[in-house]
Amino acid sequence: MQSEKPTASEPFPWEIGVFDAHCHPTDTMSSIDDIKAMKAATLTVMATREQDQELVSQVALQFKGSNQSSEQDSDACNDRVIPCFGWHPWFSHQIFDDTKHDEPRDGEYLASMKIEHYKNVLAPLIDDEDLLHELPVPCSLVDLVSRTRARLQKHPYALVGEIGLDKTFRIPKAWSSAGSDGNENTASSDSSITPGTRNGRALSPYRVKMDHQRAVIKVQLRLAGELQRPVSLHSVQAHGAIIEVLQELWAGYEKKVISNRQRKRGSSVPRAHEGEDVSPTHSNEGSDSDKIETKPKPFPPRICMHSYSGPVDPLNQFFHPKVPADVYFSFSAVINFPDGANAKSSNVISALPEDRILVESDIHCAGQRMDDLLEQIVRQVCDIRGWSLERGTQILADNWKRFVFG
Ligand SMILES: [Zn+2]
Repeated sequence: MQSEKPTASEPFPWEIGVFDAHCHPTDTMSSIDDIKAMKAATLTVMATREQDQELVSQVALQFKGSNQSSEQDSDACNDRVIPCFGWHPWFSHQIFDDTKHDEPRDGEYLASMKIEHYKNVLAPLIDDEDLLHELPVPCSLVDLVSRTRARLQKHPYALVGEIGLDKTFRIPKAWSSAGSDGNENTASSDSSITPGTRNGRALSPYRVKMDHQRAVIKVQLRLAGELQRPVSLHSVQAHGAIIEVLQELWAGYEKKVISNRQRKRGSSVPRAHEGEDVSPTHSNEGSDSDKIETKPKPFPPRICMHSYSGPVDPLNQFFHPKVPADVYFSFSAVINFPDGANAKSSNVISALPEDRILVESDIHCAGQRMDDLLEQIVRQVCDIRGWSLERGTQILADNWKRFVFG
């Protein structure tokens, strides 16, 4: 849109407040202390798998009330870290769906079902004995939801995330056969990375079936709705499937759209589920949790499509006047602008309403690089939208606060 980037040399207005809408610093626990020296105001820190749920909780407690920014209202949350609890689709095969059973399945049952479970949820049919052996005993989905609920209740500002659907990923090979040259034990694992990720392993041919991914995301979206928490969503080549899942969950809650004819007749049709459902009751979880709670629903009130890599077309569905949730789109330098420019992401950023854009680093390590990536994406968004750095940084800060706190 602009032939030059007038913002590139301007000093960056960190003092306005820059908010990372999606990142994974607990993947590198040795970087957590670096958060103290960061210029970014607040990090929205995702959990993804068994190994990082408790770490995210601990880091949030460690940085509680540590944001001294004068930009914040005195009664607003001034935590430097906003924790998010959820299971990422890349780890969804490690979950056994026992939501149809009366009681959560116990460890003994899950251990006995392990091989059958992985044969059920992975495609093509898994026959790799090394990998089957290494995969963990799956955990109960019912159990996982109750543990996540407890964490969300302990952290009144916590979100649900990272959850999502991914049509393209494949699970990593077994450690014993993961070397890219075919030799055993040659995968280059980095011991500073929190366990559970791919960590240098080659990929197997196995994907997690979409039906299973859908079951796992659905219960987590319902939990977010029950506690009225926003969610951070991962979607790779699955935007249609995401919309379908959301439509299924919010069926019956759609906003009523007043037609022109009705408007001309002067009838005042009340908009369903609007204005009637906000009950300013205070939760009873302690002094810092007196935020306004709203009635439980089967879907989250606010949704962030993180590092949105899709085209402009699906935006119509997310912004349809009937949609009873507020959908935000977040962008990162790493995923959206790896080469500095990307017409597809630029077109999406240009097409979005100004109040629905967020920025994120999406990286696995806190510190200078996270700050640098945030500065880069803020400058990029400002450049695409033709905003001055001050104005753009303020808009993005306001958007993040509205997304997280409502
Ligand atoms: Zn992520």
